[in-house]
Amino acid sequence: MSNPASTAKLALFGGPKTIQATFKRYNPIGVEEVQAAKQVIESGVLSQFLGCWNPDFYGGPKVQEFERQCETYFGVKHAVTVNSWTSGLTAAVGAIGIEPGDEVIVTPWTMCASATAILHWNAIPVFADIEPETFNLDPASVEANITPYTKAIMVVDILGHSADMDALMAIAERHGLKVITDTAQAPGTYYKGKITGTLAHVGGYSLNYHKHIHTGEGGILVTNDDEIADRLRLIRNHAEAVVGNKGVTDLSNMVGHNFRLGEIECAIGIEQLKKLKGFVSSRQRAAERLTQGLISLPGLRTPIVKPDCTHAYYMYPMVLDIEQLGVSRARLIEALEAEGVVGLAAGYANIHLLPMYQQKIAYGSKGFPWTSDICHREVSYQKGICPVAERLHEFTYLGFAMCMHELTDEDVDLIGRAFRKVWNQMDSLK
Ligand SMILES: *Cc1c(COP(=O)(O)O)cnc(C)c1O
Repeated sequence: MSNPASTAKLALFGGPKTIQATFKRYNPIGVEEVQAAKQVIESGVLSQFLGCWNPDFYGGPKVQEFERQCETYFGVKHAVTVNSWTSGLTAAVGAIGIEPGDEVIVTPWTMCASATAILHWNAIPVFADIEPETFNLDPASVEANITPYTKAIMVVDILGHSADMDALMAIAERHGLKVITDTAQAPGTYYKGKITGTLAHVGGYSLNYHKHIHTGEGGILVTNDDEIADRLRLIRNHAEAVVGNKGVTDLSNMVGHNFRLGEIECAIGIEQLKKLKGFVSSRQRAAERLTQGLISLPGLRTPIVKPDCTHAYYMYPMVLDIEQLGVSRARLIEALEAEGVVGLAAGYANIHLLPMYQQKIAYGSKGFPWTSDICHREVSYQKGICPVAERLHEFTYLGFAMCMHELTDEDVDLIGRAFRKVWNQMDSLK
């Protein structure tokens, strides 16, 4: 705290900038991935899927190999690859047997696809509020939002920390609901010693470029339920053309898509999976070091990790006590960015406030499905339905995009120093 940079004039007011260098962009792709992709390209078979009842209905050798390795790695009976996690979520909602008009409870503090996947099947997203500690669904709010029409809960392990699965699964069991987990941001983490993403009826991970491991685009579904796994594979690959010959009798949601992931991506995925633990632990090290540098700052809450859980730090989530600081979040970000801190985010998401929900215009222009008679009741998306998520988003949440950078100890220390410098001169920002 006593280093000269802490007392020098803020960069915002023309003083010296704390961080001069730009941080290295995260790039998890190495020679192993290049070699693996090259071998597939040289084979000439970039995808071996066939959309009919045939051994190739399940995909080619790299798809098979990657899926078997995911099953071992995540300790599940079935892994099903898809061409994006958005596709994965969509397949999951269809596979659990959702009917048009069914209500599915979801968090507003997530990437939009968690909720759009529900709407895709003409089911109705119902937003429950979040816990202020982990930003995940608050079990009490979930319970309060259950109606006779609720059929499932879309749980998201947001920012890198698992949701409260014991409480959520207990609620689901009590009300006969299915649970899907969206673990796009928390692969390789643990909840009470168990692997995050594997504790619901179906769950999974994203393989897009911004995530801890990636294949460009892609996703992995995981489940221990044979029937759900079968339905996922059907929805992935032109179900309607396959059900006849496969002898499928339950035709509900057997509307197929082409959600197939290619051989190159799966070959890359095999290599990425081997590195996941290391990528996650390097983020955990950086986060713990950053927390040491920030923990003493008044009015700033460093990330909370619940007992027996681990955090993947997709984002490094902070919460500001705006009243105590007497300075707005926007002003603080301005000062921190002037010191050279990049990757800060004011708020995260309030999905229920997107125009699609505010105007209830999705399929066509006349308000389908909300205005249709498949919808059992008037569902509110008004501001005020998720007060915790709304306040965090509007005023107090400050994120740092941890996963976006390859941070050295020196980088982390500089970020800490920039924060301390700004905090030491908080009065000058008022
Ligand atoms: C990235 C992400 C998705 C979507 O994954 P894609 O692979 O990009 O389709 C869904 N949910 C959450 C929480 C995400 O972070």
